Amino acid sequence: MKINFDKNTGLIPAIIQDATTKNVLMLGYMNQESFDKTIETNKVTFYSRSKQRLWTKGEESGNFLHLIDIKNDCDDDSLLVTVNPQGPTCHKGTDTCWAEENTQEFGFLSTLENTIQNRIENPDEASYVASLYKRGINKMAQKVGEEAVEVVIEAKDSNDELFLDESADLLFHYLILLQAKGFKLNDIVEVLKSRKK
Ligand code: AMP
Ligand code: ZN
Ligand code: ZN
Ligand code: ZN
Repeated sequence: MKINFDKNTGLIPAIIQDATTKNVLMLGYMNQESFDKTIETNKVTFYSRSKQRLWTKGEESGNFLHLIDIKNDCDDDSLLVTVNPQGPTCHKGTDTCWAEENTQEFGFLSTLENTIQNRIENPDEASYVASLYKRGINKMAQKVGEEAVEVVIEAKDSNDELFLDESADLLFHYLILLQAKGFKLNDIVEVLKSRKK
């Protein structure tokens, strides 16, 4: 991998991303030595500009960042480091250093969730979501029920394609119902997390 460490400082910024949630956890700087140590130990090690020495994240707190992958950017002057964090990454005790605004992201499902919200808030003639929303909560809930039954039926069959199709229908209509009830996927995830023993 080609890495352009800064000519003056010998450093390169490293964006740390949770490999599972894709949340951005923190930003740190690496020099060649800390980069090598990261690869060797599989624990993310920075060059700390304030301490002026190598700093393995978690060395005091035990909240290590276990290395999954490192990628350079388009012009080799920044790194994207994907990790499995052990405990909270921020020294203030939150998962990420941008805790307050850093809501859970669900990749494409979040994009779809936003599109659904948009169709409901700015309805247009051609929109299926808008037309279903206009028919009310009972109708939306009924659609979820129907799609769920179709999933059940296809689960018993051995046709994977139909099972996946009906699963997509179910998830889609469920997202519409959630939005109509004023909730987000993350609200459900929080409930699930709170149940984890
Ligand atoms: P740790 O590496 O987690 O053992 O933390 C050691 C010290 O590094 C802390 O006391 C903080 O001064 C600093 N520190 C830890 N995590 C962060 C972070 N995410 N961003 C900035 N400084 C940090
Ligand atoms: Zn760049
Ligand atoms: Zn922090
Ligand atoms: Zn269906």
